[in-house]
Amino acid sequence: MNAKSKQRIVLKVGSALIAPDRQGCSSRYLLAIAQFIVRCRGQGLQVILVSSGSIAAGAHRFPLRARDNSTSPEALLALKKAMAAAGQTEMMATWDKFFDFPTAQILLTHGDLRDRERYLSIRDTISTLLEHDILPIVNENDTVTTDALKVGDNDNLSAMVAAAADARSLVICSDIDGLYDKNPHLNADAKLLPEVTKIDGSIYAMAGGSHSDVGTGGMLTKIQAAEKAVSHGIDTYIVNGFKESSFNDLLLGKSPGTLFRGSDTPMLERLHWFTHTVRAQGEVIVATTEEVHSAEDCANLSSDEVLDVKGTFSEGDTILLRSDDGTRLAKARSNYSSRLLKFIAKQDDSKLVDSFTHERSLIAPQDIALLSPKATPMEEKS
Ligand code: GLU
Repeated sequence: MNAKSKQRIVLKVGSALIAPDRQGCSSRYLLAIAQFIVRCRGQGLQVILVSSGSIAAGAHRFPLRARDNSTSPEALLALKKAMAAAGQTEMMATWDKFFDFPTAQILLTHGDLRDRERYLSIRDTISTLLEHDILPIVNENDTVTTDALKVGDNDNLSAMVAAAADARSLVICSDIDGLYDKNPHLNADAKLLPEVTKIDGSIYAMAGGSHSDVGTGGMLTKIQAAEKAVSHGIDTYIVNGFKESSFNDLLLGKSPGTLFRGSDTPMLERLHWFTHTVRAQGEVIVATTEEVHSAEDCANLSSDEVLDVKGTFSEGDTILLRSDDGTRLAKARSNYSSRLLKFIAKQDDSKLVDSFTHERSLIAPQDIALLSPKATPMEEKS
């Protein structure tokens, strides 16, 4: 990591701050945020803004009757994409008005981020913009995304961008002060957690994970984002974006909400990308008499150990290796398509299997990320 990139900060601003009335963009909350960006830059920090709001900003361009109960899910999706297209320009124009330096629009899909070549190209573009004092404003390219190509939320997108940009910190704006031990809207005694050192099941439960119903809307994706960012060594703050005081505190070096400290032992760059940005396209269930302890164990997986193949994937796609008791063992790159892998796994004739696998192992050895609890700290759970 070079010293310069450690001066980078990614700020994620959500739709409720940009278009609070869903009647186009409003400067009501953005002025304080824009001032924060200007002052950060004044302190020598390079700022990247991840801004939602295109759909909320574009909604008022379409009649309400187009979105009533009789509208089919397909028509609603088409409408949202059109709203995003119409609202994106309005959102960019709104931000642009606040600054006397140039801004640049970057629209991404998960399809761009999971492709290594495109990922590296995005990284270069962000760096070049920052070197020229231009403010990159990133959003998901909602107009072109399909479910398979979507990041789906800008919290996770902001963490992926922060990792790609090798940022020092990530600030995620929320509508509450940070992470509470229970839902503050329902529990008067809910306590704000000023700092989280380890993101585990109990933290996800507070955010409304599968073990609890105390959650607060939108907190789950913020915790997912924090988990991605901290394992890259990025300090992550969840703050109340509606309060000007949050930004004043941050400028004074204080944490106004919940701080998730970046790991002291960040994952290697490529391993982080593979673990936290790339997604598995299928699953391979393997018989394991012992836990998978090393990447070598995965790379040496034999056809006898493959019990089942789930989903449809091509050669080179990412897969999740699961043991037959359901434990997530590793994320890896398959050297075979799901169809061929199923065929190989079903064969009893070892000579035939060997003819397939003697030159190419089932798993590509260069891209393996261990996920099991026994994995080393450098290879954390995704
Ligand atoms: N990309 C969406 C938009 O611009 C927002 C997604 C999100 O807020 O998480 O409207």
